[in-house]
Amino acid sequence: MDRQKIAELALFGGPKAKQSPYGTGKRFGEEEAKEVLEALEQETLFYHFGKKVKTFLEDFNNLYGLQYSAAASSGTAAIHIALGAAGVSVGDEVITSPITDQGTIIGILYQNAIPVFADLEINSFNLDPASVEKQITPRTKAIIAVHLAGNPCKMNEIMKIAKKHQLIVIEDCAQSYLAKQRGRLTGTMGDFGCFSTNDFKHISTGDGGIVSVNSSSREVYERVHAFADKNYSRFENSVMRDCDYLAPNYRMTELQGAVGIAQLKKLPLICSRRNDLGDMLSKGLKDIPGIVPMEVASDSYCTYWFYMFRIQTKQLSCTRNEFAEALSKEGISSQAGYISKPLYLSPMFQNKSAYQGSQFPFHLSDISYEKGICPAAEEILETAIKLPMSEFYTEKDIEETIAAVNKVALHYQIR
Ligand SMILES: *Cc1c(COP(=O)(O)O)cnc(C)c1O
Repeated sequence: MDRQKIAELALFGGPKAKQSPYGTGKRFGEEEAKEVLEALEQETLFYHFGKKVKTFLEDFNNLYGLQYSAAASSGTAAIHIALGAAGVSVGDEVITSPITDQGTIIGILYQNAIPVFADLEINSFNLDPASVEKQITPRTKAIIAVHLAGNPCKMNEIMKIAKKHQLIVIEDCAQSYLAKQRGRLTGTMGDFGCFSTNDFKHISTGDGGIVSVNSSSREVYERVHAFADKNYSRFENSVMRDCDYLAPNYRMTELQGAVGIAQLKKLPLICSRRNDLGDMLSKGLKDIPGIVPMEVASDSYCTYWFYMFRIQTKQLSCTRNEFAEALSKEGISSQAGYISKPLYLSPMFQNKSAYQGSQFPFHLSDISYEKGICPAAEEILETAIKLPMSEFYTEKDIEETIAAVNKVALHYQIR
């Protein structure tokens, strides 16, 4: 395209590429209000005595084709529960992704196990199975596969590696509701799936979480359930309070369960809309020089919790931050990168101090968290631009976003 024909960047006083306001909508309504009122009318907000959390889980099980799942107070809690139920304990190693919410690794450290970071595929931002396998040692006990932004990890390969080395696989599905691979839902392929209903996810109960149990074993389910409830075994009319080992209180209340029932009904539409809009964005970005869209494998169905693309700095005369700023000035909601650095570069790992004044459990291992251990992850965070996604966005929003990225990329294109 002739450079003369491109409008001046908004950054330099030109007209904004995005002229219309983003589509918006209400995520809560009378459906949630009705459920909450019913919860209050039960005269108990305790999950074991009321019906709301139970119904929420039954609906979730039906949607996912599961026999068992357990409720939790957060996604972080859900992951801790899965690790605890899986028997991850002092000195064990757990392999996971360095680009994720810290909720992925908090439970590992509370079990006094050691997070080990594998590198990522540069364009899907998900675990590279070959790197996962390289990190395995005799201490490795589990893998937490994070389906970042709703994009499924290569579960086939990861499950093969896990089987070969007898490892537990926990899927972190906080960002991947109803995402699929080879027709199977994320959260139903590993041993456990962990979901978050915090206020920023596809669906919200304010805070909350779910652990899916991919086993028809009642015993496994009971371990999961008990680990969320101080190791109390509450089933039917009996309560068993003898603690075999330490477990936290991560219970969900009836109020969250009530909101969750109404939110789950909206989930399929939320996810299919996000899938449509995200795929449309990828299609529109794929031929723009210097832009690498988010890579979703052809066997996968992504439900785009957010959208992220990368820029190829060799093809552009600007830095990533300059590109992101120019895009924002065009009226596009966007952010340079995702988390500021891979998790292992945060002070907790650099100082190997999870508990104040202590090196425990890091000193049990000689693991390194030096810069450079996951080069692809580092490059992703240096070259990515994140765009928020919403089921309320319109096709026009996506068209204007594509036009804006195109405008900025052409402006900075080296020719
Ligand atoms: C949100 C999130 C979590 C943690 O969920 P909370 O409910 O905030 O504790 C964990 N992992 C990922 C990938 C997340 O996005």
